[in-house]
Amino acid sequence: MMDKEYDIYLVLGSLVISFLTSFLAISFASFIVWHKKSNSQWWLFGAALNMGLGIWAMHFVGMLALHLSTPVAFEPIRTLFSAIIAVVSAYLAFWTLVSADFKNQVQRKLFGTFVLGSGVASMHYLGMDAMQMFPTIQYDPSLFLLSLIIAYSASFIGLSLFLKSSQQTKQTLFSGANLVSALVIGGAVSGMHYTGMIAATFDYNSYCTVLEEGIRFGALSVMVIGIIVVMLLLSFALIAYEQYIELQELENNKKLYRKVSKEVEKRTQELEQQKGMNERLLETMDAIVVVLDREGKINQFNQTAQTATGYTFKEVKDRFVWEVLIPYEQIDGVKAVFNQLKAGQFPNQHRNDWVSKQGEVITIDWRNSALLDEKGEVDYILGTGVDVTQMIKDQQALELSAVAFNTQEAMVVTDQYGNILKVNQAFEVITEYSLDEVLGKNMQVIQSGRHDKAFYQKLWKEVEVYGFWQGEIWNRRKSGEIFPEWLRITKIMGQQGEVANYIGNFSDISQRKKIEEELEFLAFYDPVTELPNRRLFNDRLEQDLLHCKNGSHALAVLFIDLDNFKHINDTFGHAFGDELLCAFSQKLQDLLSDDITLSRFGGDEFVIIFSELHASMETAMFQCEHMAQIILEALETGLEVLGQHIFVSSSIGIAISSDCKTDSDTLMKQADTAMYQAKNMGKNTFRFYTESIGESMAERFNMEAALRQDLSLDRGIFVVYQPQYNAQKVIIGAEALVRWDSAIYGMVSPVQFIPVAEDSGLIDELGMLVVNKVLDDIQTLGGLFQTSSLQHISINLSIKQLTDPNLANRLLTKFQEHEITPNKVRFEFTESAFLDNALDPKTLFSEMSEIGFTFSLDDFGTGFSSLSYLKELPISELKIDKSFVDGIPHEESDTTICSATIGMALKLGLELVAEGVETQEQFDWLAEQGCDLLQGYLMSRPIPFEEFNKLLKESNQ
Ligand code: C2E
Ligand code: CA
Ligand code: CA
Repeated sequence: MMDKEYDIYLVLGSLVISFLTSFLAISFASFIVWHKKSNSQWWLFGAALNMGLGIWAMHFVGMLALHLSTPVAFEPIRTLFSAIIAVVSAYLAFWTLVSADFKNQVQRKLFGTFVLGSGVASMHYLGMDAMQMFPTIQYDPSLFLLSLIIAYSASFIGLSLFLKSSQQTKQTLFSGANLVSALVIGGAVSGMHYTGMIAATFDYNSYCTVLEEGIRFGALSVMVIGIIVVMLLLSFALIAYEQYIELQELENNKKLYRKVSKEVEKRTQELEQQKGMNERLLETMDAIVVVLDREGKINQFNQTAQTATGYTFKEVKDRFVWEVLIPYEQIDGVKAVFNQLKAGQFPNQHRNDWVSKQGEVITIDWRNSALLDEKGEVDYILGTGVDVTQMIKDQQALELSAVAFNTQEAMVVTDQYGNILKVNQAFEVITEYSLDEVLGKNMQVIQSGRHDKAFYQKLWKEVEVYGFWQGEIWNRRKSGEIFPEWLRITKIMGQQGEVANYIGNFSDISQRKKIEEELEFLAFYDPVTELPNRRLFNDRLEQDLLHCKNGSHALAVLFIDLDNFKHINDTFGHAFGDELLCAFSQKLQDLLSDDITLSRFGGDEFVIIFSELHASMETAMFQCEHMAQIILEALETGLEVLGQHIFVSSSIGIAISSDCKTDSDTLMKQADTAMYQAKNMGKNTFRFYTESIGESMAERFNMEAALRQDLSLDRGIFVVYQPQYNAQKVIIGAEALVRWDSAIYGMVSPVQFIPVAEDSGLIDELGMLVVNKVLDDIQTLGGLFQTSSLQHISINLSIKQLTDPNLANRLLTKFQEHEITPNKVRFEFTESAFLDNALDPKTLFSEMSEIGFTFSLDDFGTGFSSLSYLKELPISELKIDKSFVDGIPHEESDTTICSATIGMALKLGLELVAEGVETQEQFDWLAEQGCDLLQGYLMSRPIPFEEFNKLLKESNQ
């Protein structure tokens, strides 16, 4: 057996070769993995060459290190073939490692290991065979197996390490994993070789059979070293170049990044400045950054952009931006902007939309700029954008709310305590408060004070419960003016369910209210006099009728119509007429208490409701009459109209309902009818509607009105005289009797109208009128009174007249005015004068008799005659009532009374008059009994003054 000696330096050299070539092979393979080189076949081939030739070179350097005692040479074909096997298996092994075809990492590793391990082993044993030793080299089987195990296991470990290191993000060739992997693979190659060499046994006598034609050691070493050196140099050069390129690229990228980030920073700042109002939005948002290359393909797409769009960088990289992100209808616009930028027109701002992966549209505000290369040409376009989708929404909402806030409607926002936070312009206009004046103040500043506490409590309770209140409310302007508003209060809840704000919206409805009121006014009021119109009047009348149905009181309607208004209107014009109506209305209002409804029906018709009259018809009529009287009298002083003093009168019709069962229409018609009757009575008077009241009672009141009217006009009232004769039928005296020729009633008997005058108080006026007329007539008689037989004229006095304490003076004045002595007149009064306890006629009588008046006790014997009066009072005459005279001479009782009365009178020294003497028998009987004076139809009826005058003259001729 031949000794095997090794040159230790060459052994080391072989180790170095196997390590270096492994390292280079790994490096080439790494580039393939890292850079995904399109020319990866060449890089793979480089790796295979390094690995394969490295194994091969290692083997032969290892063989060179071996010193055999026999010279050896290497058969060239086998030698070449061994190299090819090594390269091919290395190629396959690295292809396995970098190929994308292997999805399964374990398969990849196992296959790579098998290929590489087999290649290493095949190369070695084929290389050994190239020596063609004889006898052939013997191999120890267990060592042979060990050499294979080493080849496979070391290949496995080495390749695993490579795979690991190639997948690391940090792409550096001189990583620990790479170096260890190179060492392990190098170790696999040399370990296998030297184990194989140990396994080999060279026969002692063995010799190389190809010594002559084989490659000798010298040539081999030159060849091996040459190949290795060239390969190493080329490889290193290649790696160095590649690294340089990579570095360059890296540097470029870094530059780009620097540029980009600088621009981003700048643009972000710009955006922030420009979008000052929207700072908050920006604060929470990083800029979207996208870099496009010259063609418009996406080159950079930052995290914000990815988040905003839902696309990863990989998904959009190298795709045209308008193909991925821009909505169809905006593509042309975006392209135009892009072309502008490319043409160097920048910086540029614009807004466009992106469509996200999920299909959502986001709006982005862009600040674009072009990044230039060294030559100043546009290299990339940088877009820095802010997603303004939300901002736009907010802004729109804000604009909307701003529009809403600045409506005609006032708006006020308060905090939960009602303190004012914000008001709009309409608020300022309506309330006259500026925001500054009310800011922080409570809403109470504009409270009017018109509503009570309960009102506000109810309001706020509703707001609390329903979150809402609306209604009409009165508030106060700064000027103090109170105005109505339509207010809505809305409660705004905070996030935690607490009350955050209240919003009040209101509009000033004073105008509306005014119009409403005006409309209502027009509907219910007469625009000229502002009195209720017929409609409102009817309402009220019906109300009042309902109200009085219980019979507690009576109700009356007074229909007032101005007399001759048409004439005034025609003469002075309608404007004047209107003024007159106003003046009249004012006068009426002054007279009436506020609770009485006065209304105008149009034209010159006014109507009054007296709703609270006394339940008794008679008293109610008195009340109405009184009122009508006041109205008529008030007009007597005239009206002031447009600087003129105008006299107008009115006619009043009165309808009374004591049980209030009459319906309003009927009542109105009745009053109207009565009014026309009053007109017919000659105007300036009033009249009751008779039918419903009862003829007699109505008649009395109507008569009174008629009488009053005639009295005031001195119309139809005159005096007649009934002569009084002595037994010789000479006229000694005359009784003045009043007559009333009424326009309505014709001749009315004093028996009828005297009581009316007495009840109404007209008697005073009437009495004075009679006195006046009588005095006038006495004046007319003049000297005849002296020369004739006439001694006095009797005038009847009502007991009502006797109640006037000034009567004596007033009468005296009248007489003095007429220059007539009181003794020419005798006053008749009846016994009923003494029935009134309140009346003490004694003083009056004595006063009057002192003046010179004389008295006659009328209707003697019909009443409650008290003889004591005859003594006490200064009475000159007694008048036997007609009822006693009637019975003369056949009625015994009458004759007895008459003769007794005559006897008494004679005794007392009183004159005696018998009235109602209608027959000669009566005359004779009375004359015979000693009656001084006789009065009756037998001698004369009451006659007009002219006749009386004539009669007097005749009888005294
Ligand atoms: P008297 O004072 O008793 O007046 C007499 C009445 O008898 C008068 O009625 C007269 O026309 C009427 N008479 C006179 N002679 C006869 C006769 O022969 N036969 C009939 N059947 N009647 C006769 P007259 O004028 O209607 O007056 C009625 C009453 O009215 C008067 O009653 C008197 O009380 C009252 N009266 C009349 N004029 C006045 C007056 O001016 N003032 C007041 N206070 N009362 C007056
Ligand atoms: Ca009389
Ligand atoms: Ca009489």
